[in-house]
Amino acid sequence: MLRAFFIYLSNLHWMRDLILRLVFARKASRRFVAGETCQDAVGVIAAQARQNILSTIDHLGESVETEAQARQAAQDYVDVLDCIAASGVTSHVSLKLTQFGLDVSGDLCRELVSSVIEKAAQMGTFVRIDMEGSPHTERTISVYRDMRQKHSNCGIVIQAYLYRTEDDIKKLVDEGIANIRLCKGAYQEPASIAFPKKADVDANMVKLMQFMLSDQARAKGAYLAMATHDVKLIEATRRFVAERNISKDAFEFQLLYGIRRDVQQQLAAEGYRIRVYVPFGQDWYRYFMRRLAERPANVLFIMSNLFKP
Ligand SMILES: Cc1cc2nc3c(=O)[nH]c(=O)nc-3n(C[C@H](O)[C@H](O)[C@H](O)COP(=O)(O)OP(=O)(O)OC[C@H]3O[C@@H](n4cnc5c(N)ncnc54)[C@H](O)[C@@H]3O)c2cc1C
Repeated sequence: MLRAFFIYLSNLHWMRDLILRLVFARKASRRFVAGETCQDAVGVIAAQARQNILSTIDHLGESVETEAQARQAAQDYVDVLDCIAASGVTSHVSLKLTQFGLDVSGDLCRELVSSVIEKAAQMGTFVRIDMEGSPHTERTISVYRDMRQKHSNCGIVIQAYLYRTEDDIKKLVDEGIANIRLCKGAYQEPASIAFPKKADVDANMVKLMQFMLSDQARAKGAYLAMATHDVKLIEATRRFVAERNISKDAFEFQLLYGIRRDVQQQLAAEGYRIRVYVPFGQDWYRYFMRRLAERPANVLFIMSNLFKP
């Protein structure tokens, strides 16, 4: 119920305009967002690197409405790649297709995303295409397929809460393009297309993890980024790879900046490949609201910290 409410709030433009102006809300967003500038994110990436934690950087933004905004978003990503190179840190890049104009024109989106992937390839880095709400699932997978025709340095995100996901993953594995970040899914979806019960989502996530790490899938080039803070799912993955002698660098764990830092550090200390998603930028409202939706207890935590002397 609360989850649905926060997701609803995340889509209200007037609320976004209001919250973005509030100093205390900006302070609260720092719990999950590295800062407003690329240099802020670079500082986090460098600190993570010292702890053997890899990064994927996200310049916050989504759902642009004009071609000019989409072109600006693509230029911002080119600037982010330049900023990373100039700072001497290394990081993958994560982006959302609606930020690159997916709702304006599919061709425009393809052109812009391709140019960023091309630039990332020149720098020897990798681009992950985030997954958004279900109205964008089919189009996101379609753009990803097209990108993989020309570029090998990109991957996609797939959400375990959707019924269609098992089928999607099997097809991507068969096509030899299954570089997948597997997550539970952060949007509000109806029971007609997504498992309404957390236990079913968790069970599907374990099933898909095991399929992605199977000999059969890895023989076809499948690579899994297991994106969760759920210690039961992390443990299930560790057990599965240990039982099958799967090398720790045959897959990776991914977590979000600001969430379960203890788990991030523990996994790194144990020699697992671990990458943390580092979002930055001024358009943090919707990302922030999704983090509150995942765990409404965050609201209390944030409020109590704001009033600490
Ligand atoms: C690297 C990464 C990239 C992602 N990319 C996408 C994407 O492209 N598309 C998409 O739809 N979703 C994405 N997600 C979000 C994902 O779908 C889930 O909504 C989110 O990870 C919460 O699910 P969970 O697996 O952590 O399990 P949950 O069962 O939600 O949480 C397990 C435990 O993790 C901790 N936790 C989880 N969330 C929070 C939080 N917000 N604040 C504090 N503690 C928390 C709590 O201790 C909780 O008990 C991404 C997640 C990660 C880690």
